[in-house]
Amino acid sequence: MELQYLKGIGPKRLRLLNQMGINSVSDLLAHYPRRYEDHTRLASIRELIDGETMTFIASVVNVTESRPRAGLHILKAAVKDESGMAVATWFNQPYIKARLTSGSMFIMTGKVRRRFNQAEVLIQYFEPYDESEADENRGKILAVYPASAGLRQKLFRQAIAQILDSDFDIDEYHDNAFLERWSLEGRKDAIGTIHRPMTWEDLERARERVVFDEFFFLQLSLARMRNRDIREEGYAHTYKGTLTEKWLASLPFDLTGAQKRVIGEIREDMGKPYAMARLLQGDVGSGKTAVAAWAMLLAVENGCQAAMMAPTEILARQHFQTISRWFEPLGVSCGFYAGGAGRGERRQSRDDLAQGAIQVAVGTHALFQEGMEYRRLGLAVIDEQHRFGVRQRAMLQGKGERPDTLIMSATPIPRTLALTLYGDLDISVLDESPPGRIPVQTICVLEKARDKLDLFLLKELKKDCQVFCVCPLIEESEDMDLQNAEDVYKRMSLRLRPYKVGLLHGRMSAAEKESVMKAFEEGALKVLVSTTVVEVGVNVPKATVMVVENAERFGLAQLHQLRGRVGRGSLRSYCVLVTDTDEQYALRRLKLMTETNDGFKLAEDDLVLRGPGELFGARQHGLPEFRLAKLPEDISAMEKARQAAFEVIRSDPLLSEERHSKLRDMIDASMKDMITH
Ligand code: ADP
Ligand code: MG
Repeated sequence: MELQYLKGIGPKRLRLLNQMGINSVSDLLAHYPRRYEDHTRLASIRELIDGETMTFIASVVNVTESRPRAGLHILKAAVKDESGMAVATWFNQPYIKARLTSGSMFIMTGKVRRRFNQAEVLIQYFEPYDESEADENRGKILAVYPASAGLRQKLFRQAIAQILDSDFDIDEYHDNAFLERWSLEGRKDAIGTIHRPMTWEDLERARERVVFDEFFFLQLSLARMRNRDIREEGYAHTYKGTLTEKWLASLPFDLTGAQKRVIGEIREDMGKPYAMARLLQGDVGSGKTAVAAWAMLLAVENGCQAAMMAPTEILARQHFQTISRWFEPLGVSCGFYAGGAGRGERRQSRDDLAQGAIQVAVGTHALFQEGMEYRRLGLAVIDEQHRFGVRQRAMLQGKGERPDTLIMSATPIPRTLALTLYGDLDISVLDESPPGRIPVQTICVLEKARDKLDLFLLKELKKDCQVFCVCPLIEESEDMDLQNAEDVYKRMSLRLRPYKVGLLHGRMSAAEKESVMKAFEEGALKVLVSTTVVEVGVNVPKATVMVVENAERFGLAQLHQLRGRVGRGSLRSYCVLVTDTDEQYALRRLKLMTETNDGFKLAEDDLVLRGPGELFGARQHGLPEFRLAKLPEDISAMEKARQAAFEVIRSDPLLSEERHSKLRDMIDASMKDMITH
């Protein structure tokens, strides 16, 4: 069956559908409603009850608008039906006015407020209402679809109904035993009900099935990647102690208990003859680099090479400095690899790597680009994996070499989400900071107290401390961001005289960034104003203050990361969150920052406050996009899907049994769908 043969879909609408990414009948069926209109319980205006959210049909009599104060626009429409009149209200949506021509009819849903027999409804949803459809819609729960201009709800409803009423077959992925085991209904029924539910209970059950599938295929691919029985052979790095011991003895500090425990976990894992896939989680400053260094030396003592990849060149250079300072005295040769050749930094040739003259390579993603050859890559360390999605990991694992991989993350992730994103990885956690650190003190400062903040900064600068100042990405346009950062830069240059202020932003070339960064590290610049580039990892021990401008625009996880940029030395450090918001919810989030330094607690709270999408930057994490499922609401469905997936892989690791052949196809498709960047 093809889209253009459906009644009501001509060439023009077909084009509009295509523009929405709907190219086939299956796409249309997977175009799930965004909400439902309840025609089973329509009220008349007279029946509207104070405090309830209700749906009613009315026609517009007239419209008025007002602007009682700056930032507030109120649109009121007098509406009527046979039983009486009411007022429909919208806040700050002036563009709606054009749709409310007098006499036009709408089906509206909103919260009712009744005063002196007058009902006022704060409208949440409304759609044009066509009286000729009244009979056909009566008593139904109607799907409302994401649409675009020129595509009416009726078109979607009718086209989908045609498909559902035809003999079009909807694939079932599971056999009956499986459906029963996990108490799921059939897929064909479920899809039908999602589009045309008879009751809310039916809808709930149908949704359960579709959500299950969305999670199940993700979990199945994770389970498959994780399963050791089918992981390909890799290097077995046995403990020799030649380099690892010498290095430990050379360190000016003792490892923390957590570092020792995690090194033990890695030692055992790397000793096995399959490719390790391990996530190392630890708050900023918990000492992940040292753990990674140990692991790299273990690979080298086994005659292998090791590589360490960082997300930015600045960070890669810092790692390179640390690692080569540690390793060169042991006679281990280190090389630096980043995009673009020959600018200042010592960059090693590719040949050295291919021939094995370089044993440890540190760099950016250039490390794994085409044309990079290793002689015997035994371990790949990836720092700050949050830009590294499930799919990229699969790709890395799919490369011929099969090195052990250690992925380091400073972004605390609640367990529930970790299961989603890292279900294929073993997890080690560094849950202890090196001794002697004074916790960073976090302060929230309102814009109007800025003069005081300047005085405080001057006081810190006088103590020979340094200051980071981070400005958010405010607009889509880089120009605006830059202007914002430039304003802050100018202000600070003026107000903090005679201390030198530097500016770092996304428009600068890598070389320019590096030279500014270097000046700050060396203390030639005392204050560094930047857009969010310092977010990941730079280490400047004398930096004791992190000022975050428009702090309400950052997620908690991001703020926590920024805070981790200070407090690295033995001096008391501060994180200052500057805001002029009066939004309660934003203030609550900032207050949370002032109350705890525990990244995991913040992550959990954040998940509750904002859902995983935003705050955590789901995209940053490489979280796949689900069509129907929502996190964290559907997290228990995720757990169920995970159990089911792991059970399947345990019983049939290669999915080679006939009954699993469909699943195999689906996984490949779902891997392709994953949104990563
Ligand atoms: P992370 O990468 O987890 O944010 P780093 O590895 O950069 O943290 O470590 C932060 C700082 O702590 C570095 O200067 C490092 O040398 C130091 N460090 C690491 N482990 C210890 C330890 N056990 N005792 C004292 N200092 C340590
Ligand atoms: Mg780090």
